[in-house]
Amino acid sequence: PRNTAAPPRALGAIAPGAILGDRSGQLRAAVAALDAHPDVTVTRCSPVYEAEAHTLDGTPQPAYLNAVVTASTSLDPEALLDVLLAIEQEAGRTRAHRWASRTLDLDLVLYADLHLDTARLSVPHPRLAERRFVLQPLADLAPDRVVPRWNETVADLLAACPDRAALRCTDFALRDDEPQDASHGGGSHGGGSHGGGSHGGGDEEPRRNRSEG
Ligand code: ATP
Ligand code: CA
Ligand code: CA
Repeated sequence: PRNTAAPPRALGAIAPGAILGDRSGQLRAAVAALDAHPDVTVTRCSPVYEAEAHTLDGTPQPAYLNAVVTASTSLDPEALLDVLLAIEQEAGRTRAHRWASRTLDLDLVLYADLHLDTARLSVPHPRLAERRFVLQPLADLAPDRVVPRWNETVADLLAACPDRAALRCTDFALRDDEPQDASHGGGSHGGGSHGGGSHGGGDEEPRRNRSEG
């Protein structure tokens, strides 16, 4: 039969991160924008993690929210990177001031089985193995996937990851229809009711129904 051949599609893994402001809203908006692209379909979303923020002198630092999504795409890796950078830029336009610090980051972590290093794109992301805040959500989705560059599974990279910063699994969902499995405790210390009230204040709330106003 003719006209039924779909373009070849590759499975990529993308790590959104957000700091400052409506962090979960930014992550949700980024995932929605990615999925809205005609050549990209977001297939699975990890839980959202809050990374422990620490500075050398121990002063408090705004915390990142991090997650990983998988996406099926007919775009080549560089074209997919361009889409990610465009979504970052679009998010940047909503900053209060154009000189305000960037608050949304979208990294291409994996692209199919490809190992690629060009001037503007390295895949797998070269710092994946040292970042628990990416490996943990990636392991939630694809623990057995073999990662080129290291030729180890995600689970093995996570087990060997030297990053000791604590990760807390949050209640935020990247999409409303995403089945959530909060049993992945990540590296969070000492039980679930880690107080602190980080959910209560500000402009975030779990499972928001709108990503922007
Ligand atoms: P890091 O890469 O250590 O997480 P970063 O995300 O803060 O740092 P950016 O300023 O967001 O770095 O990106 C700088 C450039 O990195 C991008 O413009 C892009 O060309 C390049 N780059 C190379 N490999 C990748 C990748 N796998 N994903 C995203 N950007 C990449
Ligand atoms: Ca990054
Ligand atoms: Ca980046």
